[in-house]
Amino acid sequence: MRKTYLLTPGPTPLPSEVLEAMARPIIHHRTPQFQAIIKEAHEGLKYVFQTKNDCFMLASSGTGAMEAAVANLLSPQDTVITVEGGKFGERWTELCKAYGVNCEVIKVEWGKPVESEEIKKRLKANPRIKAVFTTLCETSTGVTNDIEAIGRVIKDTESVLVVDAISGLGAISCASDAWHCDVVVSGSQKGLMLPPGLGFISVSPKAWKLVDSAKCPRYYFNLKKAKKAYDQVDTPFTPAITLIVALCQALKMMREEGLENIFLRHKKMARAVRNAVKALGLELFAPHAASDAVTAVKVPANIDTGKLVKTMRDTYGVTIAGGQGDLKGKLFRIAHMGYIGEFDIITGISCLEKVLQQMGHKFELGSGIKAAEEVFLQGE
Ligand SMILES: *Cc1c(COP(=O)(O)O)cnc(C)c1O
Repeated sequence: MRKTYLLTPGPTPLPSEVLEAMARPIIHHRTPQFQAIIKEAHEGLKYVFQTKNDCFMLASSGTGAMEAAVANLLSPQDTVITVEGGKFGERWTELCKAYGVNCEVIKVEWGKPVESEEIKKRLKANPRIKAVFTTLCETSTGVTNDIEAIGRVIKDTESVLVVDAISGLGAISCASDAWHCDVVVSGSQKGLMLPPGLGFISVSPKAWKLVDSAKCPRYYFNLKKAKKAYDQVDTPFTPAITLIVALCQALKMMREEGLENIFLRHKKMARAVRNAVKALGLELFAPHAASDAVTAVKVPANIDTGKLVKTMRDTYGVTIAGGQGDLKGKLFRIAHMGYIGEFDIITGISCLEKVLQQMGHKFELGSGIKAAEEVFLQGE
């Protein structure tokens, strides 16, 4: 017997209440019963997105919601700003290019957040920029960007602010309305405690104006069609019924815990992981803007990251993530987003210590766990 633990930045573990909701018999989607579920999901999403704007559910992974943002806001030959501070920032550029949209790319050193001043400068230099594409939590580097500051520099311009909050939502605050975010996209399998398969997108009145004039081709991800159905508490196509039933359960749990408590819990998990890896003599990849959703850790040159991740997973059943893109082999990532509590972290750190010790890394056994325990004991 080998018990398994999932500490990756998507998918994330599922609460048993969510699993139970998915085991219920399927119901038909054009029924009053399912309409009640849609309504509950819409309300719950608004709570988690911290917005009054409509939040649409798409049967896709998070990238589908990103594609919906690009295809619905823009026309070919429009110019936008994309912020590239990691693999997911690059995805915005790739998507825009696929739709014939010109990108002014702001390249940010991986492991650092973007400076809102840089965005301000670029917008001033080119007032025809239609949209600015950003990432709340850049999952590939473990960095949280200051979306609030970015919102301040964009709100009085003609541009709209688009935020990829796929890994951030439900783990760290994304105050869509207070921060002047026009379009926020997310996905089900990160902080929201659901399996992969749902994409989400919220749209502000300022963004709807762009949707009205946008000419990029679209069919499945047509937000105008989605809005028409939304207003009738319906969906344009067959929705992912089971996932939406599960979403309602997850949203109910999130409301019961309360957003502020959820963010505090994630802060605590993140601090415990950061202190633990530092105690083991490892270095954080993004020490100054470290995300409370996922921690990226540099690996000493004598340790083979691929082997570390593989041994933890295949020998001991604890799955963490390696580096992506240019960071492959250079770091590992421990996620602490969604349905994660302190003993998940202790287990993960314990396994990390065991494998590091076996691989010849020098540190005092138990020092990582001790550092984490100390964080968890604070305030109790
Ligand atoms: C996971 C993730 C994505 C991609 O989402 P998929 O659900 O795999 O399509 C995009 N952006 C960020 C920040 C992510 O963490």
